Amino acid sequence: MPPALSDADRDRLDELHDLLQRKQRTFVGYPCTAGFDYSDLFRFLALPINNVGDPFGHSTIHLHTRAFEREVLDWFASLYHAPAGEWWGYVTNGGTEGNMYGLYLARELYPNGMVYYSQDTHYSVSKNLRMLRMQHIMLKSQPHGEMDYEDLRETLRLHRDVPPIIFANIGTTMREGHDDIARIQAILHDLAIPAYYIHGDAALCGMTLPFIAGAPVFDFRAGAHSLSVSGHKFIGSPIPCGVVLALKRNVDRVARSIEYVGTLDTTVTGSRNAFTPLVLWHALRTHGREGFARAVAGCLERAEYAVERFRQQGVAAWRNPNALTVVIPRPSQAVLEKWQIAVQDHIGHVIIMPHITRDQIDELAEDLGAHSS
Ligand SMILES: *Cc1c(COP(=O)(O)O)cnc(C)c1O
Repeated sequence: MPPALSDADRDRLDELHDLLQRKQRTFVGYPCTAGFDYSDLFRFLALPINNVGDPFGHSTIHLHTRAFEREVLDWFASLYHAPAGEWWGYVTNGGTEGNMYGLYLARELYPNGMVYYSQDTHYSVSKNLRMLRMQHIMLKSQPHGEMDYEDLRETLRLHRDVPPIIFANIGTTMREGHDDIARIQAILHDLAIPAYYIHGDAALCGMTLPFIAGAPVFDFRAGAHSLSVSGHKFIGSPIPCGVVLALKRNVDRVARSIEYVGTLDTTVTGSRNAFTPLVLWHALRTHGREGFARAVAGCLERAEYAVERFRQQGVAAWRNPNALTVVIPRPSQAVLEKWQIAVQDHIGHVIIMPHITRDQIDELAEDLGAHSS
């Protein structure tokens, strides 16, 4: 028998669980879905499963969920129009790892490349760039969060001798602005730059834009060479996860075979989570594309409702087209103590994820109104 917890320790876990359940109600400022049910999968937590190494390789370890992981990857490859038979990918520990993988591939292709990214880029990217020791230039952003293309053009012009690696935001963290990959390509062609790499950071919007009719195209069709999306954001997961996809011809250049585990060492980490692929698989099988499309449509409707309700309370709220993120002036300390809202400098944001109801929006609107001057 494995050792058991004492009664006192059990009580502590009960308290923690109660607290976390209560806190779900004020969780309105982060792009993470709450209220999922993966109990079908709990029994897999009793097994020492591990998807070490490449999801498409064979392994001398048989306790894995690679077949389910590959189904998940197939689903995303089709969603993002990856060229059939010419893509590769894996389930990551989240958006940061997927972005790191994209940058790593780019660096292996262009060791002296220069990374361009806008000032609205997620905070983890500058750390990734330091870890990978890549040269980089931060570009200006437009007020709504999208990259400033004039700044991109001028900066590219000054560094024509080094291959550009463009880190494009498909939904910036604070304002959910989208960089336009087609427009970026047009600038590269205009300047007659032959060799370049484009990575798309689609942490949140990789699960919203594909389900919105007429939304901008950001995927492999638009010319992205790799894409990263988070699994614990729009889809929702108790364990952070994500998916990264890349063009196979680029991946093959960095693959290395390792005898010890009998697989290819293509991924950032060696041992990999075998449970999160099941979580994603469960979500994809239960929601399907139609379910996600309905969820996104509901969120967009309530996001517009939130903008209206906040404005009625005298709060200068706004949002980008197709965005779930409602940007507001930085709320008072009293509001921040009650509601879990992300802030940066003079702004804050509320993100209308699937679990956020009109009742919550109403209550938040009242609190924002009562405390705004
Ligand atoms: C959340 C986020 C990330 C980081 O993702 P993690 O899953 O937290 O590692 C990267 N980029 C953007 C735009 C994000 O919103």
